[in-house]
Amino acid sequence: MTRIPAKAFEGKPQDYRNYIDGAFVENGAAMIEVLNPANGQLLGRIPETGADQVDAAVKAARRAQGDWEKLPAIERAGYLRKISAKLREHRLELADVIVKEQGKVRALAQIEADFTADYIDYMAEWARRIEGEVLTSDRPDETMLLLRKPIGVVAGVLPWNFPFFLIARKMAPALVTGNTIVIKPSEETPLNAYLFAELLAETDLPKGVFNLIGGRGATAGEALVTHPGIDLITFTGSVATGSHIMQAAGRNLTKVNLELGGKAPAIVLKDADLDLAAQAIHASRVINTGQVCNCAERVYVERPVHDALVEKLAVLFNATRYGDPSAADDLDMGPLINRAGLDKVAGAVDLACQQGATVVTGGKIADLPEGFHYEPTLLTGVNAGMDIMRRETFGPVLPIQPVDSLDEAIALANDSEYGLTSSIYTRDLNAAMKAARELKFGETYINRENFEAMQGFHAGRRKSGIGGADGKHGLYEFTVTHTVYIKG
Ligand code: NAD
Repeated sequence: MTRIPAKAFEGKPQDYRNYIDGAFVENGAAMIEVLNPANGQLLGRIPETGADQVDAAVKAARRAQGDWEKLPAIERAGYLRKISAKLREHRLELADVIVKEQGKVRALAQIEADFTADYIDYMAEWARRIEGEVLTSDRPDETMLLLRKPIGVVAGVLPWNFPFFLIARKMAPALVTGNTIVIKPSEETPLNAYLFAELLAETDLPKGVFNLIGGRGATAGEALVTHPGIDLITFTGSVATGSHIMQAAGRNLTKVNLELGGKAPAIVLKDADLDLAAQAIHASRVINTGQVCNCAERVYVERPVHDALVEKLAVLFNATRYGDPSAADDLDMGPLINRAGLDKVAGAVDLACQQGATVVTGGKIADLPEGFHYEPTLLTGVNAGMDIMRRETFGPVLPIQPVDSLDEAIALANDSEYGLTSSIYTRDLNAAMKAARELKFGETYINRENFEAMQGFHAGRRKSGIGGADGKHGLYEFTVTHTVYIKG
């Protein structure tokens, strides 16, 4: 086994192997290099999995599923707890891997590693709470049961922005409800998943229940989501890929659960605590270098407090500390994930300026010797027609638009192809409740920004997704309902 050393990635970069049917299997010819986005350091290589190994992983998951389903849920939960205990033992090492391959600052990477273990335990707690229903029948001497059963074999396709947590968000509810899973991490950030598999392999989880395959979307990902042996595809990533996967899933009529992009609006009313609003919105915009699906991407502020809010935000944006998170622990943000991510953000700001926006802070690629760093950027003079207010930027860029009323703010917020999260800042309960009623989003934060809680339900409307994750409702996405009529 190629064990990642305690201080991750010191020494010669290693080749990692897929985990299929309880074993680390030999790689094919093609490998993908994984680089540190802050400094270009080669961290390791993962397999570009071919269709044959994808098939082997799905078949292994299928073979394991029957016995796994028959185990009492509380025993399945016991395995999940063994995995979370392993993650806790290696929490520093895991955070180090996330820092290096994703570019997250260490404090956030540690939160991600710890939250992942907590999430697995939380889902394990559902073991004794998975419920069906008993119904009265229209016929005499008949009882109806609605049984909740596992769907079967799940494919989990992951993004790179919270790569480690997303393993748990797919794997834990799948396994506790009796499914088995094949995970494909993003080719940008796969190494944390390989470490996860190595830790999982140290437990006695039955073989085939969890399988890991590496590779690019167009190859390994495509082979996985079009495999006829998959019963549910749970995907987190971009709208474009989600839409493609949904079409590909149509071939086998495979069920999809899609967690896609966002363009979260933050509404600031004139009675709001402006310091609170500015701090929350700034923190939300720079956390993970703005690469978060549910962080404020556009602000609608009532005109009388527009200038005051911009002034407060400008102070915070100017004070944002950024750089290489492998080299310093006191940073607010690291680099963007790759060259394409940097070019996309730079292009979005340039286009906004051409369309009439004014740069208050930042506005260009950061002057650092290496890595994909962009300056924390505040834009004013924007309007609803501009791309910067409509398309997901996924970087540390915040456009602010003045509005004349709450009604106008709600209308602008809802006029978006995205519908993941939204927020409002006000001291007026009636205004907050009106926003909660009228905002058409999966989540609304009142007087705060992200993150979501594991017991909530994280789900997007419109192009932000289909279905959701977390809590009871997220858990039940991994089940099918089977109706039984009992005569007698
Ligand atoms: P992406 O769509 O580029 O890639 C996501 C995954 O899909 C990767 O593993 C990739 O290899 C795979 N993939 C690509 N093409 C595929 C194909 N044809 N078949 C199968 N798999 C394929 O997304 P990304 O850039 O990794 O992630 C960023 C996006 O994810 C943003 O839009 C962000 O908003 C979104 N996101 C959403 C949530 C949420 O909960 N709604 C959470 C995190 C990220």
